[in-house]
Amino acid sequence: MTRTAIVTGAARGIGAATAIRLAADGNAVAVLDLDEATCAVTVKTVTAAGGRAIAVGADVADADAVAAAVDRIADELGAPTILVNNAGIIRDNLLFRMTENDWDSVISVHLRGAFLMSRAVQKHQVDAGWGRVVNLSSTSALGNRGQANYAAAKAGMQGFTKTLAFELGRYGVTANAIAPGFIVTDMTRSTADRLGVEFDDFIEHMAKEVAVGRAGHPEDIAAAASFFCSEEAGFVSGQVLYVAGGPTS
Ligand code: NAP
Repeated sequence: MTRTAIVTGAARGIGAATAIRLAADGNAVAVLDLDEATCAVTVKTVTAAGGRAIAVGADVADADAVAAAVDRIADELGAPTILVNNAGIIRDNLLFRMTENDWDSVISVHLRGAFLMSRAVQKHQVDAGWGRVVNLSSTSALGNRGQANYAAAKAGMQGFTKTLAFELGRYGVTANAIAPGFIVTDMTRSTADRLGVEFDDFIEHMAKEVAVGRAGHPEDIAAAASFFCSEEAGFVSGQVLYVAGGPTS
């Protein structure tokens, strides 16, 4: 059965890999990001492999844009029943230097974004009597220097996930969170830039802290998302899976 999946922040990084993986699993995929044009590469990768995808531009923190995007996806691809809330930003700073804007923008994209997207998609899931929600948390949910805003948002994603699992479970909808460790993407590249270190040196340094001895890649997260979105994962809900190459403290 072909289902329709929405992956937010899917122009690049973890979102792009997840969209490509869910399409390879047989789903039609809405590749959603802030700017529709930036989704073209992900869409092309899916369609070149014989899959079905459309590019959708929307700011996940904007309620009207989210409603319009979900309506359009339902019209063009079919009712969306799989949602991966992946869009994210970082605005790292030590607490005494963190601005209100740093705080508000991070909380808004991650938490308000996941809330608006989930609220818009849940009616399609409830109508279908089936659904999957996957929310991107982070090992930073456990606390991380310079990330008071991001850690709060990513811990919030875990509580949000568990609540969706309780509320939507009776309609055949599961909700789970993935908490990645260090993944090689533009987001971690920007952290290296901020710290003034070469990205390759940063990756090597971070990999030393990982039990399996390497940094993570977007496909590592996409594989976990694929499992949570599968038919056979229907009895797994409200869980937080740390995908970090080792145990987390
Ligand atoms: P990334 O490479 O920076 O990609 C994030 C994508 O989200 C970008 O395409 C970005 O668009 C988009 N986005 C940002 N704000 C948006 C908004 N308001 N509406 C729609 N799209 C928006 O990040 P990533 O490393 O792949 O991370 C993906 C997710 O995993 C994030 O939630 C992140 O917090 C989480 N995560 C990442 C890591 C890691 O090590 N990389 C670890 C743990 C968790 P623009 O390019 O236009 O800004």
